Amino acid sequence: MARKYKTIGIIGASLPSLLFAKKYSKSFNIKLFEKTENIGGAWRNINHGNKSIEAGCHLIATKNESESDDIKNFFFKEYSIRLHVPNKKELIYDSLDWKNNNKAGPPLIPDRGWNFFSYEISRRVLVKKNIELISCYEVSNWDVNSSSCISVDGRSEFIDHLVIPAYSSFYPEEFGHQHRAGVENIHLIGNWSSRKSFDVKLKQFFLESDKDALIDRLSFQSINKKMTNGYFVARIGRNSKEKVGNLSRTELDFSLKRLTKDESLTCGDFSVLRYKHLFPSIDMRLALSLKFPLDSTQKLWYLNTGYLGDFIYENLIYNS
Ligand SMILES: Cc1cc2nc3c(=O)[nH]c(=O)nc-3n(C[C@H](O)[C@H](O)[C@H](O)COP(=O)(O)OP(=O)(O)OC[C@H]3O[C@@H](n4cnc5c(N)ncnc54)[C@H](O)[C@@H]3O)c2cc1C
Repeated sequence: MARKYKTIGIIGASLPSLLFAKKYSKSFNIKLFEKTENIGGAWRNINHGNKSIEAGCHLIATKNESESDDIKNFFFKEYSIRLHVPNKKELIYDSLDWKNNNKAGPPLIPDRGWNFFSYEISRRVLVKKNIELISCYEVSNWDVNSSSCISVDGRSEFIDHLVIPAYSSFYPEEFGHQHRAGVENIHLIGNWSSRKSFDVKLKQFFLESDKDALIDRLSFQSINKKMTNGYFVARIGRNSKEKVGNLSRTELDFSLKRLTKDESLTCGDFSVLRYKHLFPSIDMRLALSLKFPLDSTQKLWYLNTGYLGDFIYENLIYNS
């Protein structure tokens, strides 16, 4: 008997993969193969103490004003999540580097913070009947003849199409050599408290002009009503990565006080999170920017997931 729906396998349960899965779950069965126990990829939440905290410094960058409006409407319509363009207190930057590579439009942040953003998307996607999350399944191979995905420990799953997002570690051999190997981002994740009340709930710092700075991106969130404590995620600057092993609380404190301009601010315990990426170059990602038509007979699909805003606009709004 013919199956009602064909099956799409997606490598990784990253945020772009989840958004993609929901859109195509209207016409396909979806299997999300995730090598870890986490969901969200670079946009995942992690546990720190007894709190769930986002594990990256985020901003939804956009190409122009109309793309920014469309993305805002997309999240409200599909996920009931409200986004807004950050004001001068919410987004602080010392150079316009983050607007390079076609990201000159108004950026967006979620009204209720990144934690809520990722949690709400995962919740609304994984509840769908025909979306299956297969965790601890690292894809190592794709057998075109039997239309199967194969994990490193030899388990195989039948699928009709395989979708490969840009940052996945799995690439068929023809692309293997084009990865930019060995790029590592290091993030510090911890708590802060202050005698002063913080001015906004969510604050993003993009500090990229000083290549020797200890921290070059910082996300600050308040979690109590008085806004006197919360958590931070700080990305270590490109020339300071080797310092991380010996970093003292005092040194980190000093840096956070200076960046937030709050002398009474102190940081609590912090942990170190390393992201190792085998991501392709920007040119490569653009070459992988293929849209997925519903009537496709093509088996392998590559998605340019490089920037969330672009990915949503190109694949989920423009292509609908
Ligand atoms: C810390 C950090 C912050 C970022 N901040 C922003 C931002 O603010 N704005 C923005 O637009 N972009 C940002 N990015 C870029 C980000 O990578 C993209 O937005 C997007 O998350 C890429 O999606 P992806 O699925 O390609 O990769 P990822 O988000 O990296 O997810 C890949 C997923 O696939 C899984 N996986 C990998 N290989 C396999 C395999 N062989 N089998 C099974 N599972 C596998 C991984 O465990 C992971 O869950 C950031 C990236 C990082 C690392």
